[in-house]
Amino acid sequence: MPKADLIIYNIGELVTFSKGPLRRVTPEDAVILRDAGVAIRNGRIVEVGSSTSITAKYEGLALDAGGRLVTPGLIDSHTHLVFGGSREDEFELKLSGVPYEEILRRGGGIYRTVRATRNASDEELVARAVEVLDFMLEHGTTVVEAKSGYGLSLEEELRLLRLIKTLDEIHPIKVIPTLLAHVIPEEFKDRRRDYVDMFAEKLIPEVAREGLAIYVDVFCDKGVFTPEETRKILLAGLKHGLRARLHADEIDYIGCSKLVLDIELDAVDHLEKTPPENAFLLAEKGVVAGLLPTSIMALFTDARPPVNAFREAGVFMAVASDFNPNNMTPHVQLAMDVSTYILGLTPLEALAGATINAAKSLGLEGEYGRIAPGYKADLVIWDVENYKWIGYAWGFNKVLAVVINGKIEYPEIDEADLSK
Ligand code: FE
Repeated sequence: MPKADLIIYNIGELVTFSKGPLRRVTPEDAVILRDAGVAIRNGRIVEVGSSTSITAKYEGLALDAGGRLVTPGLIDSHTHLVFGGSREDEFELKLSGVPYEEILRRGGGIYRTVRATRNASDEELVARAVEVLDFMLEHGTTVVEAKSGYGLSLEEELRLLRLIKTLDEIHPIKVIPTLLAHVIPEEFKDRRRDYVDMFAEKLIPEVAREGLAIYVDVFCDKGVFTPEETRKILLAGLKHGLRARLHADEIDYIGCSKLVLDIELDAVDHLEKTPPENAFLLAEKGVVAGLLPTSIMALFTDARPPVNAFREAGVFMAVASDFNPNNMTPHVQLAMDVSTYILGLTPLEALAGATINAAKSLGLEGEYGRIAPGYKADLVIWDVENYKWIGYAWGFNKVLAVVINGKIEYPEIDEADLSK
């Protein structure tokens, strides 16, 4: 009998997709297996089949899914995981209609978090981020992207990326590090060019030399970085071997998403103010559009990414949490649910958005985001019977157990109980 490190059997409904990232998600693209089983060895999926055939063929720890839904692990492709402080007292200002740019101008928003982050010790920042990662794990997240961006100086950005590296090492969730050009720091307000030069010519080379980030990202928007400044930073990142992603068209449209034309980007996120005709550019270049539905709620905006145009043009769509002090929810499961209500995504589009298409957003396609032989054994056992509960039930945790790299990481159970 071939050995498996873990067998999951009695899966009521296993839902994954028949191929890698999808430009359009139709029911025909979904693989829906009833009464299924999965065999896992060395952190990878070895075989997917009927529950009885898997249990008859493999020997090893066996986990009874109890007739429940199993999907790939959820991939949160956009978060600002590490920061100090909180901004709860800005919430009422936002509610009363004070725009985000005005809060920024008053020294609030990002600037306030930068001060709190600089004042926090490494231990404090790591302890808080571990709490957030634990929450994410309990809610089904198995891979998370984490941006720097609350340090703003060379030393502080390096510190945040080193802490993000530590988090990847100490927590079962895989953490993909991103160096983010978030905003021009207050001390460079009248010398913004010097800051862009420092970022492109000193910070990026140092980050690359130390191997501290996979991605470089820029907050390209009105009042933040211009498309020209963004171009300079992204090109410096690409030159030093980083991959590129972008915050674009969130506050206003100043041409940021058009940068896909001549810069090799894996993902462009936000897109609330993107003109629908730009959908064709994203589709043509194969760039993933990152939708951040809870972040839209936190902005109190009526603007929406042009989801219909994305569908028509065949743009890969991902769904992410955008966890940050202005959108205090580290919850990609909730982002999936909310995406159905405020963006009109179908439950299957939401699932693809946090699995295969999120994997593409992070350059992990082919290895993460599917339940298929050879893929990483990251899986979620849900406390519901089928995928139609995605969106339908929201505001509470629908996840029962999480497997990362072939190990049951949540809940903590004694694996001896699973021995046959
Ligand atoms: Fe963001």
